[in-house]
Amino acid sequence: MKNRHLTDLEIQEYAFDRSDCEASISEHIQACEVCTKRVGAYLFLATSLKDQQEPVLDYNLSALVIAQLPAEKSNQTSSDYLLPITVCFSISLMLLTLYLFKDALQNILSATLEPQRYFIMSTILFITMALVLDIISRFKKKMNLLDV
Ligand SMILES: [Zn+2]
Repeated sequence: MKNRHLTDLEIQEYAFDRSDCEASISEHIQACEVCTKRVGAYLFLATSLKDQQEPVLDYNLSALVIAQLPAEKSNQTSSDYLLPITVCFSISLMLLTLYLFKDALQNILSATLEPQRYFIMSTILFITMALVLDIISRFKKKMNLLDV
């Protein structure tokens, strides 16, 4: 049994959902006159609220509220095009670079890899994979922060 009076949350829990209520709360309410009165007050308030009639309005409230809402802007801003333009520019720049250095790239890919080159290539590949995984994990963390 609790030696202090119960909080409002505990009283509400007892009044409206006794199945999830702790045994100590039930024991306190059965022994305490003050908390029993508070439970009764909550139950009286709940039944009074249920007995109230729905308010009847003789005018269309939703139409009045909708009329006061600001009109939604449908015109697109220039920032809407910024991402696609940037992506297209980046892809074009990457393809241009590959085209300009295609001979050098063919030499690198066709040459037999010496142990030093093999070590360098595997290191570059490992660092690139680590950076990509880091970018993905930071992106997911930021998206989780936005999902409130
Ligand atoms: Zn009490």
